Amino acid sequence: MSEEDNPVKNPAKPNFGASGRKIVYDENGKPCRACNTLLDFRMVTNKNIAAAAVANDAANARNCPPDVEELGRSTWTLLHSIAATYPDKPTKSQQENLSQFMNSFSNLYPCFHCADDFREHIKKDKIKVTNRDEFGKWLCNAHNEVNVKLGKPKFDCNLWKERWKDGWKDGRCD
Ligand SMILES: Cc1cc2nc3c(=O)[nH]c(=O)nc-3n(C[C@H](O)[C@H](O)[C@H](O)COP(=O)(O)OP(=O)(O)OC[C@H]3O[C@@H](n4cnc5c(N)ncnc54)[C@H](O)[C@@H]3O)c2cc1C
Repeated sequence: MSEEDNPVKNPAKPNFGASGRKIVYDENGKPCRACNTLLDFRMVTNKNIAAAAVANDAANARNCPPDVEELGRSTWTLLHSIAATYPDKPTKSQQENLSQFMNSFSNLYPCFHCADDFREHIKKDKIKVTNRDEFGKWLCNAHNEVNVKLGKPKFDCNLWKERWKDGWKDGRCD
């Protein structure tokens, strides 16, 4: 990385954004949209926090490329929904498909630093594909690891099916 592209040596490239998070730059020294919040991405590209905040609100309503949060929410929705429809008694081939999908996913996820950590997680806690509940709980724990990293509360994994498959027992999803 050149001195111009180094955020430590070049104050025009700040290390931290308005959200207090570290700004993630790609291998070319450009801020990575899928790895930063939109507010931080805008702050680095606009160099003006007030303008960034206004642009952030407008962009949220304008079908723009996803930031790290929108990408994350949509992805967890897909992954937990896959868990919800995964069979109770999957065939060998269904188990292989899910393992391959998750491994490919961990290499392709567009937020590259999120993907790096997720691959490390998979090394420590092997993906469980033996049945729906095993996979659902494994995924819930993986999501909780990210929640903890981001300072968010842990989700009660006994409730994963209510959240993602059957709806809450109080009937609010019926
Ligand atoms: C594989 C992966 C890795 C990520 N790594 C990072 C990272 O390193 N840094 C970063 O800034 N962001 C990361 N993200 C994004 C981050 O996890 C969130 O998606 C994002 O911050 C938006 O959070 P949110 O509060 O809207 O809820 P989300 O965490 O997106 O959760 C969506 C909904 O899922 C439910 N939920 C929450 N926890 C669980 C759980 N454990 N099990 C089941 N359901 C649950 C809740 O109802 C919640 O509203 C990652 C996303 C993915 C998919």
